[in-house]
Amino acid sequence: MDTSHQTLNEPSFRESVDIMFNRAVALMDLSPGLEEKIRVCNATYTVRFGVRLRGAIHTFTGYRSVHSEHMEPVKGGIRFAPTVHQDEVEALAALMTYKCALVEAPFGGSKGGLCIDPREWDEHELEQITRRFAYELVKRDLINPAQNVPAPDMGTGEREMAWIADQYKRMNTTDINGAACVTGKPPNAGGIAGRVEATGRGVQYSLREFFRHPEDIKAAGLSGSLDGKRVVVQGLGNVGYHAAKFLSGEDGAVITGIIERDGALHNEAGLDVEAVRAWIVKHGGVAGFPDANHHTDGAALLEVDCDILIPAALEGVINLSNANNIKAPLIIEAANGPVTAGADDILRERGCVIIPDMYANAGGVTVSYFEWVKNLSHIRFGRMQRRAEEARHQLLVDELERLSGDKGLGWTMSPDFKRNYLRGAGELELVRSGLDDTMRAAYQSMREVWHGRDDVHDLRTAAYLVSIDKVASSYRAKGL
Ligand code: NAD
Repeated sequence: MDTSHQTLNEPSFRESVDIMFNRAVALMDLSPGLEEKIRVCNATYTVRFGVRLRGAIHTFTGYRSVHSEHMEPVKGGIRFAPTVHQDEVEALAALMTYKCALVEAPFGGSKGGLCIDPREWDEHELEQITRRFAYELVKRDLINPAQNVPAPDMGTGEREMAWIADQYKRMNTTDINGAACVTGKPPNAGGIAGRVEATGRGVQYSLREFFRHPEDIKAAGLSGSLDGKRVVVQGLGNVGYHAAKFLSGEDGAVITGIIERDGALHNEAGLDVEAVRAWIVKHGGVAGFPDANHHTDGAALLEVDCDILIPAALEGVINLSNANNIKAPLIIEAANGPVTAGADDILRERGCVIIPDMYANAGGVTVSYFEWVKNLSHIRFGRMQRRAEEARHQLLVDELERLSGDKGLGWTMSPDFKRNYLRGAGELELVRSGLDDTMRAAYQSMREVWHGRDDVHDLRTAAYLVSIDKVASSYRAKGL
């Protein structure tokens, strides 16, 4: 297990999640039996399989953990990383349970992982390994549209999801709902518009919602809007890149720091996110990027002065060893578990506001939910309504123009307004609307608890209270 980023006294990732869970249930009136039932992970399957590659058999270890089946299917990503281990997968599965409950995605929590460094294998080899791992999970119904539906996570993306979906279909040739066995697929393989960027988009929507509430902005010691806020992002992968791109491109935030595996870039005047991303793709890291100061100790930049810190790489990066040095008044956990339980205590004491992972990165599972529904309904969102909506809008525009002409008022609509108003919503617009609505509603539910109860002082505890309450109701309804 990789504990290099943690101090010795730090609990493991799973223990950290449990500590946060326990802090919340101490404020609830749950029976001890139910409390334990919700907390524990139901099952973790470990598989070791061999694949013949480069003239030798290589053995790989993978996991699929099911935390809670109060709703099925269970849902959660599959991570490819050399550091994957059981404790991590179980912690991530637990977070999936709470996350799905918080954003009202009708799933239990699950997570999977394969111990592998994807950069060490070429595409053809990775396909063989992924298909073999999927085979092991499919044959035990740990991948199944009705029971367990994976998605991308660190080290995996559309390509791996397409291989998994195809593997499932090869093994279940008559399952008409086969495409719904995994989400995060490419659009041409049953995916949905807007899924790739969904988690980063969700981070943006979370921050927009936060900045709609003056009381919350004040609690973080900030003022104004997202415009001009100095942002440091750790991890320019799927989640970090999209969050940074949208926040800087659409909300006026200034990305002053980007932390990657091989170091960090810092420029108070702002970094060009697209240019940094292109540099990483070409050179394999941030080193050598012009127009910025380069720090070889990347993690040190977590401690730099900024308005918003977005850890979007891996867990445990803000821990007992650096929590006291963090200067950002607002942290949004785009990654899962970036702040350990001990660091959370310290930061809370110091007045730092943390928008917790189970909410902040829920955009991915939310759009995955839409994709799953799309696959089960076998029709693209908006296909039936779009032109009908446009025709109705056209009627209104024609009538207004006629009235304006008849009365000699001479009103004209700007071409921009007309074009935008006349356009019916396609899949991408509907996905964004559903995601925005979900992120706003979930924030409201946390916020009501945060400000409404004297014994709740942070958004994380509030988020746990909301989600545990939902999971508990679901178990009670089952007679537990
Ligand atoms: P990714 O593999 O696309 O990107 C991870 C990035 O972090 C890479 O650019 C990598 O180089 C960088 N990185 C790795 N180690 C680092 C280190 N020590 N310091 C700095 N940077 C480092 O992964 P992702 O899908 O963007 O996931 C990132 C986090 O977001 C994970 O915690 C994941 O569980 C969480 N998450 C992802 C999704 C999703 O839809 N992909 C959804 C919810 C949560």
